[in-house]
Parts: sequence; structure tokens; C-alpha cells
Amino acid sequence: MELSHKQIESLKEMLAQPCLRIVILSHTNPDGDAVGSSLAWAEVLRARGHEVTCVVPNKYPYFLDWMPGIEEVVVFKTDTEGRAVKAIAEADVLFCLDFNAVSRLEILSETIQGNTTARRVLIDHHLQPDEGFDIVFSHPESSSTCFLVYCLVEAMYGTGAITRRMGELLYVGMMTDTGNFAFSHLTPELFRAVAVLLEKGISIPEIHNSVYNAYTEGRARLFGYAINRKMALIEDGTVAYMSLLESEMRRFQFQQGDSEGFVNYALTIKKVKMSAMFLAHRKFIRISLRSRGDVDVNLFARKYFNGGGHKNAAGGKSFLSMEETIDHYIRSVREFAEEGHLG
Ligand code: 5GP
Ligand code: MN
Repeated sequence: MELSHKQIESLKEMLAQPCLRIVILSHTNPDGDAVGSSLAWAEVLRARGHEVTCVVPNKYPYFLDWMPGIEEVVVFKTDTEGRAVKAIAEADVLFCLDFNAVSRLEILSETIQGNTTARRVLIDHHLQPDEGFDIVFSHPESSSTCFLVYCLVEAMYGTGAITRRMGELLYVGMMTDTGNFAFSHLTPELFRAVAVLLEKGISIPEIHNSVYNAYTEGRARLFGYAINRKMALIEDGTVAYMSLLESEMRRFQFQQGDSEGFVNYALTIKKVKMSAMFLAHRKFIRISLRSRGDVDVNLFARKYFNGGGHKNAAGGKSFLSMEETIDHYIRSVREFAEEGHLG
């Protein structure tokens, strides 16, 4: 990956100062890439003598509980002691990992806007990043933020600085954000990085098993229900959508993260080019979008659902009812198709 020499030097210079107080932030509904990149980067910074706090807006899914060091991540939503606010107020540097816009911090956004004069560094792989960062590593061509962190560490300190523990953390994001090495942006460099992590002693089967084979019975049954009863196809079978109401989630003892992967499943149908998942929350509906090939769901999410992400994986929100949201989706897909975006 082509990292900017100038940005690397600026970052190195910043981190050469002793004992910085650093906060690493990642996005709402943190996933394997968010948590893995944050914890690995935290280890790198601690090894250089800095004091690091990782903060996420809300809880990560339970199938990441095993990740080394995850218990130290401060979850802002349930942080009754005010650790996150204090760490952010006292921070010299804020690292923003795996997100491109402060709005993606949702309930944590305000704290970041008002409460700090810290310098800001972006390390991310989403399209169209916000402005206002002092140092920017924005690499949409990177398949995960974990791979980007790997490349940064390699460029700054060499692979000798990577421990087995960091390797496990980084592998989680490389694996999950690429759909187990099946999506786009799979480069020889990525597989060389995986080879280095193997040399550090990571066990790929163990990590795979810990992440993908650790669901509850409720989740397995919810999956069957969602595919069988809730998946619908439109546009001559080329576009899919699925929705889950809060009452349906309760029936299957839903826990955060349980719907992960559902939206991808519709794309196992040969004709389907684009898929959406509508998940009801108390105050809004969260939308996940996935697509194949040239169908650009980042564009779709920005245009119709006030969101964004990557070309083949994006998301957004709706403040309408489920029925109205689905109507809006169907109409938007029609318009999108008429404009030629569905090929
Ligand atoms: P997921 O469906 O896994 O929640 O999200 C897929 C991708 O879309 C992720 O890369 C995520 O960062 C991005 N994304 C999800 N929701 C939003 C949103 O509301 N706004 C923006 N800008 N990106 C989102
Ligand atoms: Mn990511």
C-alpha cells in the first residue's frame, strides 16, 4: 500500500514525544475490524510508552469477547464512571480508527466536538472522509483498517514490532472485513501480511472458530426465520431486502451482532446484485446494504438513506416506520435502476 511518506513522518514525530495521553476511538456498533485495529494500535502505542484508552460508543458483539485486551475497551453508553469523557478531555492525541465521519460516533459525537483540543489522526478505509484531521491515513483501497494498521506499523517500526497478540487482533479485522478473504481489495500484500502474522504464531482455525462458530441457538433460529419468512425479492429477483422488528428480535433473544451476515446471505442467490437489511432500533431503523460488482451501495446509501460506507458494503438510517422505510427503499431502488446504476 502506498502510504504518504510525509504523513508517516508527521506521525512518527508526534509519537516520538514521551508519555502522550492517547484515546483511540472507533465507530458505533463496533465490529471485528474496529475492535481489532483499535486494540492492536493501542498495543503498538503502549510499547512506545504512551498511555492509551480505547473508547467505543456502544457495546461490541459478544462473539468478540475473547479478543485479547477487549475488557479494557471503554463502552461510552454504559460508562457510568465517566472514564471516556475524562480520557477524551485529557487526551493529547485522538486516533479515529475505522470510520470516516464524526457522525459515525453517534452518541459520542458531541463529546468529541466540544470537549477536547487534542490533535486528531484518521486511520480508515471508508470512502469520502471528513475534513478536520491533523494527520490523515485514508485508504479505501485497503480491505480493512486492520490491514492498514499493519502497513503503518511495518512502515514506521518494521514487522519486528508486531507481537503474536497484535497479530491475533489484526487478523480478526482482515478476516471479517473481507468476508473471510472473499470480497474485493484482496492483494498480494494482504496475503504477505497474513503470512507474517502466521510467523508470529497466530492460529487461523482458532480465530475463525472463535468469531464464526460462537453464536447462540437463538441466533441460528433467527437466521432461519429471517431468510425463510422475511426475505423479499424485487426488480425481477435482482434486488433483495429483509427486515426485523424489535418484537421479532425479542422472540429469538436477540443480542447485538446476531444479525451480522444476514444481509450478505441474499447475495448467495445468483441473480441478486444488491441486498438490504432493515433492523429496528428504539428510535430509528438501521440499514445495511451489500452489493456485487459495479453496483455502488455507497452511492445508494448517501443518496437515499443519509449514510455511506464502501462501494459493496454500506449503511444508513431511517427515522420513518418500517413500512414507510421499505416503501422508500423500493421506490429508491426503482429510481436507482432507471438511472442505470443496477447495470
Ligand atoms: P454494516 O452494514 O456492516 O453496519 O456497515 C457496512 C459499512 O457501511 C461499514 O463500513 C460502515 O462503516 C458503513 N456504514 C454503516 N452505517 C453507516 C451510516 O449510517 N453512515 C455511514 N456514513 N456509513 C455507514
Ligand atoms: Mn472496517
